[in-house]
Amino acid sequence: MRRIVIVGGGTGGTILANNLARRLRREIEAGQVLVTLLSASPRHMYQPGLLYVAFGKMASSDLYRDEDGLLAPGIQFYVDPVESFDLDHNEVKTKSGVTYGYDYLAICTGSRALPTSVPGLAEAGHHVYTEEAALKTCSALKDFPGGRIAIVTGVPHKCPMVPLELTFMMYDYFKDREMLDKVSFTYTYPIGRIHSLENVAKWAAKEFDRMGVHYETLFNAKEVDGAKRQVHSEEGTVVDYDLLITVPPHKGMEVIEKNKLGASGWIPTHRTSLAMEGRDNVFVLGDTTNIPISKAGSTTHYEAEVLGENLASLATQGRAMRAYEGKVFCFIEAGKDRATYASFDYKSPPQPEPPTRAIHWFKLAYNRLYWNSVRGLL
Ligand SMILES: Cc1cc2nc3c(=O)[nH]c(=O)nc-3n(C[C@H](O)[C@H](O)[C@H](O)COP(=O)(O)OP(=O)(O)OC[C@H]3O[C@@H](n4cnc5c(N)ncnc54)[C@H](O)[C@@H]3O)c2cc1C
Repeated sequence: MRRIVIVGGGTGGTILANNLARRLRREIEAGQVLVTLLSASPRHMYQPGLLYVAFGKMASSDLYRDEDGLLAPGIQFYVDPVESFDLDHNEVKTKSGVTYGYDYLAICTGSRALPTSVPGLAEAGHHVYTEEAALKTCSALKDFPGGRIAIVTGVPHKCPMVPLELTFMMYDYFKDREMLDKVSFTYTYPIGRIHSLENVAKWAAKEFDRMGVHYETLFNAKEVDGAKRQVHSEEGTVVDYDLLITVPPHKGMEVIEKNKLGASGWIPTHRTSLAMEGRDNVFVLGDTTNIPISKAGSTTHYEAEVLGENLASLATQGRAMRAYEGKVFCFIEAGKDRATYASFDYKSPPQPEPPTRAIHWFKLAYNRLYWNSVRGLL
C-alpha cells in the first residue's frame, strides 16, 4: 500500500486531499493507497474574509466551516497537529503521540503574522491577520475621530494585495462617512516602490496620487513609539500616526523552525516540482514554501492541483509529469465597490486593468464559492 500523508488542513491541504481522493478513488477503495490529512484545527477558516470583517462587511462566524465537511470520502482526517518530522525514516509524529509512516509527504502548514517582531507594533498597530485582530480593527475604524492614518507593511506577508486593499477600502470607508477632510493617509512599503509587483505598483501609485494618499518607500519598520505615535524605520525615517494599520511581517509555522526544515519556517522548495530541496518524496505547498512568489490562496490552489496530479501518478506509476509554472491570480479590492485583479506566472508579469464594479461583485461571489473551490468543485 502507498501512504500519502498531508500535514495542514487549510487551503492547500484540503484541495490536495480532495484532488487525490478524486484521482485515486479506485486505489483508495481497493486499499492500495491511503491518504491521511493531519491538521491542527477541526475548523477551516476562509482567511481573505478577515479583510471584510474589519470593515463590518462580513460576520466572523461566516469565516468558518468544519473541515471534515469539506473532505471527500476516503480521506483519513485527524485533528492532531504534527510535532516532529523524521524525514530520514519517512515518519511524522503528532501531539497525541501517534507516528505516521509515509511514502509521500506533503507539508502545507501555512504562515503566521508576527506583529511582535517589531518592538511596539503589537501594542500600537491594528491588523487583519486573526479574527480577534480584524474585529479590533473594525472597532478602531468605527471609533476613529479623524487624524493621521499610517499603513505600515512588513515582509514577507501573506496576500500581497492586503496593504493596497486596506488603503483603498479605508479611503472609501471614510469618504462614505464624509470624513475625508479629517483624515490623511501615509502608506509605507519596504522596497523602492509601493508594491512588490512592478506593474501593480505603477497602477496603484496613480490611484494613490488621485486619492491624495502620501507614500513612503524603502520604509522597514524598526520600532513603534506608542507614546509619541511615531513609527521609526531602519532607514532612519519617521512616520507619525493617530491610527496605525499594519500588515505585520510573517514567518512560517514554529513546528517547521523547531524541526529545522527551513529558516524562519520557510521550507526550501523546488519552484516547479514543489519537492523539498534534497528530498524526492517530500513536497511543500502554499505559504510554507520559500519560493519567491506571492503567498496567496490562489498560489496554493494552483500548486495543489499540480501536486495532486503528480502524487497520483507517483503513487500509481512511480513518476511525476507536471510542473508548477508559477501561476497566481489575485483580486485587488480598489475601494468599497470596485476591484481589479493581477494574474501572472513565472514568465508573465501581471497587467492590472482599470477597476470595475463587475470584478468587485465577482470577488464577493468568490468569497462564497471558496467552499466549493476547496472541495474541488471549481
Ligand atoms: C487578511 C487576509 C486576506 C487574504 N486575501 C487573499 C486573497 O484575496 N487571495 C488569495 O489568494 N489569498 C489571500 N490570502 C492568503 C491565503 O489565505 C493564504 O495564502 C492561504 O490560506 C495559504 O494556504 P496554506 O494551505 O499554505 O495555509 P493555510 O490555509 O493557512 O493552512 C495551514 C493549515 O495548517 C494547519 N497546521 C498548522 N500547523 C500544523 C501542524 N503542526 N500540524 C498539522 N497542521 C498544522 C493549520 O491548522 C491550517 O489548517 C489572505 C490571507 C489573509 C490573512
